[in-house]
Amino acid sequence: MATTDLVTMDKIVSLCKRRGFVFQSSEIYGGIGSSYDYGHYGVLLKNNVKAQWWKAMLQERDDIVALDSAIIQHPRTWEASGHLAGFTDPLVDCRTCKLRFREDHLADSACGRRPSKHPGDDEQCDLTAARDFNLMFETTVGPVKEEGATVYLRPETAQGIFLNFKNYLQFSRRKPPFGIAQIGKSFRNEITPGNFIFRTREFEQMEMEFFVPPVEATQWYEHWLAERLDWYRKLGIRADHLKLRAHDADELSHYSSATSDVEYLYPIGWSELEGIANRGDFDLSRHAEYSGQKLEYHDGNTGERYVPHVIEPAAGVDRAMLAFLCDAYDEDEIEGETRTVLRLHPQLAPVKAAVLPLVRKDGQPELALEIQRALRERMQVEYDAGGAIGRRYRRQDEIGTPWAITVDHQSLQDRTVTVRDRDSLAQDRVAIDDLADELERRLRAPWTTPKA
Ligand code: ATP
Repeated sequence: MATTDLVTMDKIVSLCKRRGFVFQSSEIYGGIGSSYDYGHYGVLLKNNVKAQWWKAMLQERDDIVALDSAIIQHPRTWEASGHLAGFTDPLVDCRTCKLRFREDHLADSACGRRPSKHPGDDEQCDLTAARDFNLMFETTVGPVKEEGATVYLRPETAQGIFLNFKNYLQFSRRKPPFGIAQIGKSFRNEITPGNFIFRTREFEQMEMEFFVPPVEATQWYEHWLAERLDWYRKLGIRADHLKLRAHDADELSHYSSATSDVEYLYPIGWSELEGIANRGDFDLSRHAEYSGQKLEYHDGNTGERYVPHVIEPAAGVDRAMLAFLCDAYDEDEIEGETRTVLRLHPQLAPVKAAVLPLVRKDGQPELALEIQRALRERMQVEYDAGGAIGRRYRRQDEIGTPWAITVDHQSLQDRTVTVRDRDSLAQDRVAIDDLADELERRLRAPWTTPKA
């Protein structure tokens, strides 16, 4: 079976639309820049990505607990965190082409090297001086705009965790090292959003703050680098499409003593998928200072007292989903025809199995529906009786369904069905009574991508 890595962003965008994963938001009004709506299969895939993250953080460990904090927090939060003063990008405008650039990205842009010629015409680039632009979305609480208080849509979920640190010490009796994890929406008024769901103004983050005794910070930083890289690998991303890149000293955020990005080789090149930072005691100390509360660990028995250091793995749900889609996208040839297939890890696949009657008569649809009803208790399955069987297989291949279960003439006689494997195309005959167990066994088995 010949496999090629022909994935482009255009192919992903078009597959996502064609199969109902992701749509341009507000399309009937002409769309709105960099906003996307997730359709049926997009929701299922995104839920599976998040479920795998929760599983790795909560189910498989004893030292992390969950949180779901509010999007709108006390505005002092952002003074303490440094986002009000520091969460800015320097912007320059080109008077010639009317485009806007981040000053720190000028070197990568076609415009911007004054006095170079403007691309496509004879005019010179004419750049304004850089202006700082805060990335936080501002809104007002209260019914009267003028009298209300200015608040911000959170630009990261992490601060909600720091604000709750004390609750977890007091009420959950947690002792470092321990982590607090949350998944939720964040908002950034990005200057240059783009590349589909890679950079949008509204996106979802999976963040975990791991609080540790200061002397253990380096060791836990290393631990989380390895864990997070491994998470992507176990979910099927090819090792040669993933790497860790340590930030240079001049790249580090104001709060961080060490940061590494997990990068993925997207069709747009190597780009950040997740950031893992050693934030030291910056956040807890700042919130202690701004709130006047003690945010430290104190052991009543030993008298030990310290402000924990924090290791933060911060991932984007949408970027992870894009990476999984890009890594899974494949084209091969079956009986002289090109097939598009998403070779997603079965745990991530939106639909685990499709139940297909070979023909729409002779009791086959009834038996297929009976199988679907039994399987749906255990996993996401789909019944599809519309069109030629080959067309139905292709449809399932395109949404990444790992197994297609076909009910045929023989099924009515001996209560067996064929199970077609999306990747190997092998067809096994399985007894209907064993089907759910067999699929669950396959779902749990370690999986590596057949892509080269
Ligand atoms: P970038 O350098 O790409 O702007 P960042 O370093 O500002 O990202 P972080 O603040 O570390 O990003 O956020 C953690 C994660 O949240 C990122 O690794 C990314 O997966 C996700 N993320 C951040 N900004 C966006 C965005 N505008 N759209 C989608 N995902 C985002």
